[in-house]
Amino acid sequence: MDEFTLINRYFARQAPHRRDVVVGIGDDAALCQIPAGMSLVATTDMLVEAVHFPAATEAAAVGHKALAVNLSDLAAMGADPAWFTLALAVPDADEAWLEGFSRGLFALADRCDCELIGGDTVRGPRVVAVQAMGLVPEGQGLRRAGASVGDRIYVSGTLGDAALGLAVAQGEIEAGVPQAQYLRGRLDRPEPRLELGRALRGLASAAIDVSDGLVADLGHLLSASGVGARVRLQQLPLSSAYRELHASVGWDAALSGGDDYELCFSVPEDRVAQLENVAADLPCAIHCIGEIVPRPGMCIEDVDGREYQPATSGHDHFRNDT
Ligand code: ADP
Ligand code: MG
Repeated sequence: MDEFTLINRYFARQAPHRRDVVVGIGDDAALCQIPAGMSLVATTDMLVEAVHFPAATEAAAVGHKALAVNLSDLAAMGADPAWFTLALAVPDADEAWLEGFSRGLFALADRCDCELIGGDTVRGPRVVAVQAMGLVPEGQGLRRAGASVGDRIYVSGTLGDAALGLAVAQGEIEAGVPQAQYLRGRLDRPEPRLELGRALRGLASAAIDVSDGLVADLGHLLSASGVGARVRLQQLPLSSAYRELHASVGWDAALSGGDDYELCFSVPEDRVAQLENVAADLPCAIHCIGEIVPRPGMCIEDVDGREYQPATSGHDHFRNDT
């Protein structure tokens, strides 16, 4: 199979289905129309086999996750997904893998109305780099900076499941079959919190998606905002699968485990009622885990009000480099 057959068979689809795509796949570059009054939000995140996903990961899950992690960044900015490009390196034209990968990718893309408008396909060690672009009304994009003293801090969904899913997959911990399946699903198929991100426009004072663990990512929000946080351990939302393992694994997966792709955000006290109102209609739950304080850094309190020190602070590819 040559390169163009591969692109046509698995990635080039019929006519563009978004009206704002003037030129999609097939030209030197894509041409898209940005509606008046909207800002373009652009992000890219790459997945490297054996680094970001276990080599044995189902191809459809890789396709889903490659796009999902990018849409999660758009959600954290309060943007609606619009378009994406795909730079793909594969060791060979393995048709079963390409079929599964594109199925997982397009299932999410179609569900989120995000159109593939171009890319690049090369032979090499398996790497999937997606660039996603979204739209947000001018001036309404959410940022990491903006949290103020007294704001409440919230997270969506539950924390630490993906890290536990990885630990189970690597044989580091044991879980029952349904629990292991649930946790692995959270690792392989993160759900970008797009409805939440959209609902937070005009409500949240700052937002970030949790990709490297709560401590690391809330830490970025705090430094960008020039404030600190008090977080209560007992209020961290845990899944029932996590709670069953809690006695043996403790809090560290919830605090420092990567790959959750939940949103963490701050909301001023006087908008909390409005937030709770819109939250009732969202597909994911949100939980208040603490509040913004003046003293920089993060103080994590246990049930007795004592400070809790997490074992690790989150994932960093270059931490051990000199
Ligand atoms: P060029 O050499 O001009 O960069 P290519 O030959 O690499 O173009 O690609 C031909 C067309 O196919 C381009 O429109 C490009 O965006 C698209 N394309 C290539 N690979 C992919 C892919 N993996 N997914 C989607 N579109 C792709
Ligand atoms: Mg090219």
